[in-house]
Amino acid sequence: MSLKEYTRKRDFKRSAEPRGTPSAKSTDHRFVIQKHAATRLHYDFRLEMGGTLKSWAVPKGVPFRKGEKRLAVQVEDHPVAYKNFEGTIPKVQYGGGTVMVWDYGTYAPTNPDWRKEFESGKLHFALKGKKLHGEWYLVRLRDGKQWLLIRGKDDMRPVSRKLDDTSALSGKTMKQLAGGDTVWESNRSHAKATPTLGRSLRRGSARAGQGVGDRADPSPRPSPLPTRRAAVLSQRE
Ligand code: MN
Repeated sequence: MSLKEYTRKRDFKRSAEPRGTPSAKSTDHRFVIQKHAATRLHYDFRLEMGGTLKSWAVPKGVPFRKGEKRLAVQVEDHPVAYKNFEGTIPKVQYGGGTVMVWDYGTYAPTNPDWRKEFESGKLHFALKGKKLHGEWYLVRLRDGKQWLLIRGKDDMRPVSRKLDDTSALSGKTMKQLAGGDTVWESNRSHAKATPTLGRSLRRGSARAGQGVGDRADPSPRPSPLPTRRAAVLSQRE
């Protein structure tokens, strides 16, 4: 398991996300779901496997009704330490936005031969979390990165709107976790002092928006801001 892609996409001087290394003797089956208000809101579904967190971005969140399917786009493996990460990633960084630990706990694969099953593009498992419980499937589509997250044999009572906006780790709301970022946005005197800067940052974010939320890094596109300005802004955030 490699964290090369994870490391390449991030600037750890500017983002508080954990650097992390693959952990050698991890046999635990932990899971975490992080609600991520990036360019587009999505839920990052992560399963501990082979010393890293296998990760999928689920735009519409976890399905609750029997047989209900949700698209889950596989993204780069994340370090296990990422499971405790919540807070704000500076906007100009990869995946910029607010992250909440939406749920965490353990997962139990149903099939004893589950590693083989997973490699062939399927995983049947039960989650025991603070919010979620019961069975789901992950099934890979032909495309390779696209999977479906499917609710198993019974319905689960959907998570309430209030609980959806409550961290399973800290009890904080997305607004509370946004912290300094919100202050920056609503600071009128500061906004007056640099009106163009604020607007161009927001415009830039919208233009770069695509995919499921984390800005697609590999496709080269002109930076919406001169590099020096971007650096100054990220320090403020
Ligand atoms: Mn994400």
